[in-house]
Amino acid sequence: MTRRGPQKFPGASLRYWYQDDFGGDAMEVNVVVLHTTECRTVPSYEGGSNAPNLTAVPDFGAEKLKWYQHFDIDISSRALANLPVGVETNTLNVCQVELVGTCDPGRHHRWGGGSPHLYWPEAPDWALRELARFLAWMSEEHDVPLSGPKVWKPYPESYGAHNGERMSGRTWNGFKGVCGHCHVPENLHGDPGAIDFATLIAYAREYAS
Ligand SMILES: [Zn+2]
Repeated sequence: MTRRGPQKFPGASLRYWYQDDFGGDAMEVNVVVLHTTECRTVPSYEGGSNAPNLTAVPDFGAEKLKWYQHFDIDISSRALANLPVGVETNTLNVCQVELVGTCDPGRHHRWGGGSPHLYWPEAPDWALRELARFLAWMSEEHDVPLSGPKVWKPYPESYGAHNGERMSGRTWNGFKGVCGHCHVPENLHGDPGAIDFATLIAYAREYAS
């Protein structure tokens, strides 16, 4: 596998780098999978054993996302479930991004207004634009199409095997573009919920053109 294109997202910190510990499979990425961490800082990912390729942390003062990279772009990461039978998930040419914050309205409420955090279904414009810049880069450098599923259900409706938006194995095997953990087969998680995907992709197309 040739692993074409730059393997580090410019500006990303390598402070929590896990590829030396976990290796991973070489791929040519054609999918970005979005997650939300359901916490407010960079998770430890059990020492990296369930880490994505990148984590994006909101900096509310600067109105920027601070990026941490854990694996090369074209190396498989570890944030998806994968059953022994069926399709491949982590290793099926996907680059995974964990967005620090929540998609859960209950958690958002519990965290409350006194604690700055990103509730991704109501992400401020700057956060969507920052994420869109990454997607535009993935399109330009790694040919990931700036398109994806129409339906992004709110959490907790988005949870479970039969959430009405999860792809079949066959659809997943042919998919190229941007989707959520909630769309990946063999998985139950409902993140990143009702992110404003139409606006996100519109911004990404603007930056990519
Ligand atoms: Zn997830």
